[in-house]
Amino acid sequence: MAMANNKTHCFICNTEKITYSCEGCSKRFCLTDLTEHQQLLREELNHIINDYDQFKQRINERKQNPQNLQSNSLLKQINQWEIDSIEIIQQRAQNCREIIIKTSETFIYDIEKKFNDLCEQIKQIHKENEFNEINLNYLTHELIDITQELNNPSHISIQRDSQSFINEISIISSKRIEKLYFIRGH
Ligand SMILES: [Zn+2]
Ligand SMILES: [Zn+2]
Repeated sequence: MAMANNKTHCFICNTEKITYSCEGCSKRFCLTDLTEHQQLLREELNHIINDYDQFKQRINERKQNPQNLQSNSLLKQINQWEIDSIEIIQQRAQNCREIIIKTSETFIYDIEKKFNDLCEQIKQIHKENEFNEINLNYLTHELIDITQELNNPSHISIQRDSQSFINEISIISSKRIEKLYFIRGH
């Protein structure tokens, strides 16, 4: 019983034996249970290594296909913005084209109407056989006027606005590493 001095209770089997302290958990174990304890720790380490390996595999998979759910969603938003913006531009271009076509039609119609009025006057003069230099002068100048009008339709032009009617988009990043890069870059 004199030997009992250097014996303490083992944390696992609770018997009085020569025990060894584990520095990690500060508990004391008999040699058998210390070996068991170390075996458990080794198994836990293996689990952790396994988790690390799995994580490494996930990174490699991501490298093969870097698009994740979030970037897919962001790309979708950019695509949608592209489609919407193109649609707005096409709509605006179509409106302008329709205005040009309609205006041109009206323009020709107006000139033709003026021309028909003048023809009517010529017919009248011819029929009545009553005219002088004033009439001839008038008819000549009217024809010059409408010829000029037909050749140079200056009543319509295109104006380009410097202000965009498309909603612009940009990418905002709040990642710390990019801020660091930005600071280092300057
Ligand atoms: Zn024990
Ligand atoms: Zn321990």
